[in-house]
Amino acid sequence: MSRLLRKRYPRLDPEGTVDHVVLGAGVVGLAIAERLLKAFPTRTTFCVERHGQVGQETSSRNSEVIHSGLYYPPDSLKTALCIRGRDLLYSRCKDHGIGFKNTGKLVLATSKDQIGYLRGLHDKVKRLREAGVGDVPLEWLDGDAVRRLEPNVGERVVGALLSPKTGIVSSHELMEHLEKEITDSETGELVLGTRVVRIDRAEPTGGGKRGDGSEDGWIVQTVTDDGSGGEGARTAVLAKSVINSAGLNAHHILNQVLPESERLQLHFAKGSYFSYRGPGVDQVRHLLYPCPEENAALSGLGTHLTLNMDGEVRFGPDVEWLSPPLTDEGEDLPDFWESKLAVTEDRMEQAINEVKKFLPGVDAQGFAPDYSGIRPKLSKKGETAVDFSITHPRPGLLSLQGIESPGLTSSLAIAERVEQRVRNEVWGLGRGTGRVLSEGGRLDEWA
Ligand SMILES: Cc1cc2nc3c(=O)[nH]c(=O)nc-3n(C[C@H](O)[C@H](O)[C@H](O)COP(=O)(O)OP(=O)(O)OC[C@H]3O[C@@H](n4cnc5c(N)ncnc54)[C@H](O)[C@@H]3O)c2cc1C
Repeated sequence: MSRLLRKRYPRLDPEGTVDHVVLGAGVVGLAIAERLLKAFPTRTTFCVERHGQVGQETSSRNSEVIHSGLYYPPDSLKTALCIRGRDLLYSRCKDHGIGFKNTGKLVLATSKDQIGYLRGLHDKVKRLREAGVGDVPLEWLDGDAVRRLEPNVGERVVGALLSPKTGIVSSHELMEHLEKEITDSETGELVLGTRVVRIDRAEPTGGGKRGDGSEDGWIVQTVTDDGSGGEGARTAVLAKSVINSAGLNAHHILNQVLPESERLQLHFAKGSYFSYRGPGVDQVRHLLYPCPEENAALSGLGTHLTLNMDGEVRFGPDVEWLSPPLTDEGEDLPDFWESKLAVTEDRMEQAINEVKKFLPGVDAQGFAPDYSGIRPKLSKKGETAVDFSITHPRPGLLSLQGIESPGLTSSLAIAERVEQRVRNEVWGLGRGTGRVLSEGGRLDEWA
């Protein structure tokens, strides 16, 4: 596909220059663009999004949970960025009137084995504080204490971890806020309805139109919607740096500039949600999670109960691995997942059975298929899970891959991390100005 794209859209000469192009206006791209604008107020930052509105893909198809950071290995990016992101997100919500609720969450054990597992998790989390990674408060409750807190929880539940720092956020209000910060800034622009179709490395030529004596960077070619679903104007800009945060499409951008041996393959795991109206949940105040199966926590946290900002209950997401159709080059067909978003009734029975283990009073009639989201994964089904990945594979091109859960929680911390790397590695302003090729790896020791 990368080769086809390059054939279809031949290289163009740039018509203008910009300091940063952030590719994709999901919650992560928006957070990065906003952060770059605050950190470098005299430099220009464009955030380019193919849809007519921000956050139309994974960022509006998730549980909206502010995770506390308890599941991942101590030295992972997921742990560091989730804990930091959680704290930044609560402050941001309070300071800017973004809807959130600090509901707390219970991770429920229904067997002795699961008690052992959750106690192990508790011990690991205590070590995070000792190691200076961050604070994830947890409290152990026995079954009766759980039912005093949540009377709808059934007798099968024999204990739980209470995570008081877990909550929910209105992802739409968060993205609206970030969008406004970008559009109100002096040097930022949000370019909607515009698809990045090609990026090419621009080598320095000497003289320099950019005013800083160099012309190195990236020629970013875009196609704008013509308003009726077709292709309109094709244009290109020269960007000093490009930050690829294209989510489910990130590998198609990155692979354009990598040799075959370095190309990246993403894998896709759908998560379906079911709305619920009926008995057995009337007193629920906390988010309720089952104990994850060993090593399954890294592909999904189990079908859980979440609440939205209006207090409505939904269950999900489950985990359904998708098999994308492949192109002649062996890559997945871009955007194949768009036709897979419908939630089907055949997944409902399993979800109901899972839920009944901890909420026995729910009625199957009250469940209905709702929406789904797709996780962009760096490992296949059955393989060891992989951390968030932030790479700098070519000078001036930073790329984010595998930003699945807890990406919403981590978004402001991911932006902070990317800003530091742009400062050091692109502008050479910080300490240690060498290029860090990649951050994030396999998650062998899972929590
Ligand atoms: C089922 C599910 C549940 C989740 N639950 C939670 C949760 O409770 N808490 C949590 O913290 N995280 C959760 N997450 C993870 C979180 O939703 C994601 O990590 C986050 O939304 C990723 O944001 P993003 O900006 O990287 O990606 P996206 O939201 O996918 O944004 C990428 C953007 O790039 C644009 N784009 C792609 N290609 C191009 C192109 N060529 N040109 C221009 N634009 C382009 C797309 O249109 C899109 O808008 C969940 C994820 C899933 C799937």
